[in-house]
Amino acid sequence: MSFTDLSIAADAKILPIQEIAERAGIPDEALELYGKYKAKIDVNSLPAAVGLGKVVLVTAISPTPAGEGKSTVTVGLADAFKQLNESVIVALREPSLGPVMGVKGGATGGGFAQVLPMEDINLHFTGDIHAITSANNALAAFIDNHLHQGNSLNIDPRRITWKRTLDINDRALRQVTIGLGGPSGGIPRQDGFDITVASEIMAVLCLATSLEDLKERLASMVIGYTYERIPVMVRDLGVEGALTLLLKEAFKPNLVQTIEGTPAIIHGGPFANIAHGCNSLMATNTARRLADIVVTEAGFGADLGAEKFMHIKSRKGGFHPDAVVIVATVRALKMHGGVEKSLLGGADADAVRRGMVNLAKHVDTIRQFGVEPVVALNRFVADSEEEIAEIMSWCEAADVRVALTNVWEKGGAGGLELAGLVKEELERPKDFSLLYEESDSVEEKLRVIVQKVYGGADIQLTDKAQKQLVELKKFGWDALPICMAKTQYSLSDQPKLLGRPEGFTVTIREIMPKLGAGFLVCLTGDIMTMPGLPKQPAALKMDVGPDGEAIGLF
Ligand code: ADP
Repeated sequence: MSFTDLSIAADAKILPIQEIAERAGIPDEALELYGKYKAKIDVNSLPAAVGLGKVVLVTAISPTPAGEGKSTVTVGLADAFKQLNESVIVALREPSLGPVMGVKGGATGGGFAQVLPMEDINLHFTGDIHAITSANNALAAFIDNHLHQGNSLNIDPRRITWKRTLDINDRALRQVTIGLGGPSGGIPRQDGFDITVASEIMAVLCLATSLEDLKERLASMVIGYTYERIPVMVRDLGVEGALTLLLKEAFKPNLVQTIEGTPAIIHGGPFANIAHGCNSLMATNTARRLADIVVTEAGFGADLGAEKFMHIKSRKGGFHPDAVVIVATVRALKMHGGVEKSLLGGADADAVRRGMVNLAKHVDTIRQFGVEPVVALNRFVADSEEEIAEIMSWCEAADVRVALTNVWEKGGAGGLELAGLVKEELERPKDFSLLYEESDSVEEKLRVIVQKVYGGADIQLTDKAQKQLVELKKFGWDALPICMAKTQYSLSDQPKLLGRPEGFTVTIREIMPKLGAGFLVCLTGDIMTMPGLPKQPAALKMDVGPDGEAIGLF
């Protein structure tokens, strides 16, 4: 019989969420039930924190399109800590319907290292992403209504930067024309849609530390410019209160459980290639109040998720990761060693050896922050002993700690060695440092990321980006961290340059101020903030059985 993530999840014993809350030390009065197995946490009703837990960040090498098992290892590692009787909570992102219906799949882990109820979490969950979409589009409607009702702010309709959003890959909506139909239809203008998980409101929700902070951040978002090129913010429209109201429940972290009954907090879900890529600060902070160890992940490879975790999330949160796990797989290393995607099933230890340069770069990146990474080799059944031996001997020679990890097949029991190595790193004193200061010039910050994290030679700004930079400086918005939007497949801005490319220049196509989120989004390559669906979307395999059971959800 063959197992799927869905069949394993369906057969798992799921506990009432109150039991999980009790395990996590969450009192009844702080629990808002969303059915039997999900709850929101009212953080204000939690007991005062006695201390703050340590943070384990799980990141990865540059991935294949299928993902390397980061969420799976994150969940499995937390379960392993639980088996070792540690007080632990896993903190994850909420899946977006884009990848769920597209190619990559959900974000609830896999095999015996999953969070439950996986079907709900992957689809509508507690409605947070819908709430973010609604707040985003309500703001768009307020802007267009302002134009229609006389435009007292003198907003230039051609310079509105606020876009509408939808949480699905829909390339047909990247560019749209709105306001057609004569005077009663509003003011015609060009508009466009982004995927919700790339929206500034998603980033704001993930970085705000209180409802007041959320409101202030929403008020600071730039929506466009006047005819005199003066920036217009949400506070000029006076709708930050309404937006906060739409988001107030979504702002509360969600509690669920792993297959092994470890408490899991899942909240916020920005993509790491086009946004900052980690779950909310509220979730991480709440987990740190409740547990000694918090295992969390940042999207895609260490060049994207981990870099932004350090420079954006943990900088804002005033903490740093106490240990970092880099997930590697034989299949992705083979791909970095030059093997075609369609041939990844065949054993090829030489290709693995050639591909190790990609892992080496990510190890080097994490070391630059002052953390000694632990490599989790996420084992797949098809991996050959020779291929695994290749990775083990490279790690030994490079003095990198590595654990063969089998949590997909065995749950927490498959991650005990990894947990042991991570525990050692948690206890090791560290000299953590960020690679750039917010006050460095934008060019300097970009250069640091490209040279130190991507291993490239230099940056180059298009004319458009240069003009935007002049404008940013004029408004005093340049002292913000950078949120790179870059392909996840390569360390460079060119998806086909696998392994460890060198000597490349990264072209910055556009720089977009996100003052509410508190960062500057820098678009590179042809990365899109509204992806498209593949020829054979995962949706084609999905269905619902006669009793309402999900079919084909991985
Ligand atoms: P990431 O977080 O890196 O994107 P996921 O943890 O979501 O990756 O895993 C992607 C897919 O790969 C999931 O469907 C998961 O079940 C599967 N997977 C992960 N690890 C393994 C493994 N060791 N063996 C088989 N399938 C795996």
